[in-house]
Amino acid sequence: MANTIISVKNLVKNYGNFQAVKGISFDVKEGEIFGLLGPNGAGKSTTLEIIETLRPKTSGEIIVDGLCLDKEPNEIKKIIGVQLQTSGYYPGLNLLQLIELFCGLYNRYVDPMELLEMVNLKEKAKAKVKELSGGQKQRFSVATTLINEPRIIFLDEPTTGLDPQARRSLWELIKKIRERGTTVIITTHYMDEAEYLCDRVAIIDAGKIIAMDSPDKLIDDLVAGGFERPKEMKMANLEDVFIHLTGHSLREG
Ligand code: ADP
Ligand code: MG
Repeated sequence: MANTIISVKNLVKNYGNFQAVKGISFDVKEGEIFGLLGPNGAGKSTTLEIIETLRPKTSGEIIVDGLCLDKEPNEIKKIIGVQLQTSGYYPGLNLLQLIELFCGLYNRYVDPMELLEMVNLKEKAKAKVKELSGGQKQRFSVATTLINEPRIIFLDEPTTGLDPQARRSLWELIKKIRERGTTVIITTHYMDEAEYLCDRVAIIDAGKIIAMDSPDKLIDDLVAGGFERPKEMKMANLEDVFIHLTGHSLREG
């Protein structure tokens, strides 16, 4: 059994009179891809940003890799990778220069071309962020989370708005990152994505965790309870047709 790398106990977040997170508890194991699933407004981003030390909590206890969030937030910052909105990057700099800037900020050295190669953006080294497609921007922002060689990375809806090819390419990147031993926490409201990527998921609705397990176990439990799909399943779906016709290769030039 893997070690617990994140422990969240009774986390509460109030925005004024509104309780966005209502006392949730969960553990993330070292080396897993853990999904926070839920509809819009469920409290996913709030929860993530609190663990990332970017947003104050109302109450609860959070431990990240043995570090207490209340006492050692700066130590936590050193071991996590946080995805920034791509609109936040200096617009005048190209990808190479941005990576060099991040290296300076983190006081780390990575080979910028090696990093760009990992996320399949080597040919775009001299491009500015605004010249990238949606999928390329997402891959670049994932790359920037890796510069400080974090033990955990946080991805908040990384595939929202991407075409099927770009989504799949990002999924493979996320798997590759996990294979290097990095723990991944991801939020999504795409269930196919969660089923493909996540070792375990917590389903969160209106600020409460209503289920938590591996995707397989959650599906088996539902079926064991007598659930059946109302329609006979075909052997493929429209997305399969789309990928079959258009292929896996990225369309971003
Ligand atoms: P999710 O990421 O699951 O869509 P969020 O964590 O962004 O959900 O938001 C949870 C709830 O908290 C929503 O109802 C949202 O409107 C509310 N909320 C989020 N941020 C703020 C804020 N800064 N001030 C007030 N309410 C907020
Ligand atoms: Mg959100």
